[in-house]
Amino acid sequence: MKFEVTILGNNSAFPAYGRFPTSQVVNHDDHLFMIDCGEGTQVRLSKFRIKRSRIDHIFISHLHGDHVYGLPGLLNSYAHTGREKPMHIYGPKGIRMLIDTVLRLSASIVSYDIVYTELDHTDRVKVFEGSSLRVYAFPMKHRVPTYGYLFEERKEKVNVSKEAIEFYGLSVDQIRAIKAGSQTLRLDGEEISVESLLTRRPRRSYAFCSDTVYDPGLVKWIKGVDLLYHEATFMHDLEHKAEFSKHTTALQAGMIARLAEVEKLIIGHFSSRYKDVAPLVEEARESFPEVEAAEEGMIFSIG
Ligand SMILES: [Zn+2]
Repeated sequence: MKFEVTILGNNSAFPAYGRFPTSQVVNHDDHLFMIDCGEGTQVRLSKFRIKRSRIDHIFISHLHGDHVYGLPGLLNSYAHTGREKPMHIYGPKGIRMLIDTVLRLSASIVSYDIVYTELDHTDRVKVFEGSSLRVYAFPMKHRVPTYGYLFEERKEKVNVSKEAIEFYGLSVDQIRAIKAGSQTLRLDGEEISVESLLTRRPRRSYAFCSDTVYDPGLVKWIKGVDLLYHEATFMHDLEHKAEFSKHTTALQAGMIARLAEVEKLIIGHFSSRYKDVAPLVEEARESFPEVEAAEEGMIFSIG
């Protein structure tokens, strides 16, 4: 089952060096979820051939323009293409007013319902539950109310192992019985525990953290995720600037990944002062080895 994230934008503040402001699309089993929608997101959706009609849920971290200015345009385009199914939008309090005001003043005729979930909490809360995926929102420390999102599969993946199928020559009916929940199976005149025939893959998870000051307090909400996206706006020599503007340095992003014991870290939300982001990746690796830059168009598999 597919579980991956495509980076659409990785820059902070404004577009620079071909990098666009923040946006990502999570694909879980061909259900698409957008996170943030900075300016230029529609251009990136087209460039990377992502089917925007399959996006039904958009999660906005906060109301700073570089995370949300692409959203009114995207919603307007959906109206032009005759969308009928509802669009669910999640974000801090104020997201509804922002979007409704822009659409109303620009006389946009929206052909579908926009369903808002406004966040105003200080703990981790579940905001979406599908048949195979849950999404939680948790608060981060930034200059305005900001939320990170955790995408977590509901169940571990259980399969009948290929080796067992070959070794015992399992029939389609036997495999079906195992999948239906049989606990034992009679094979070659012997009762075999079904458990020994199974492979289990743990639930996979992805956490998105942008924007925030360095905050080890958020580790408890993202502990052990397979893939962590964390902002790394500055190099650590500008720690004072990061602290002042409530952002994180690359070194600190690596420290969060280490504390949270994640499998892999991707960093983004780069300051426009950096043309080359390789030094930020190198710096993050000083704290945590498994780091990559969230470059636009890159697809990261989760788990
Ligand atoms: Zn911000």
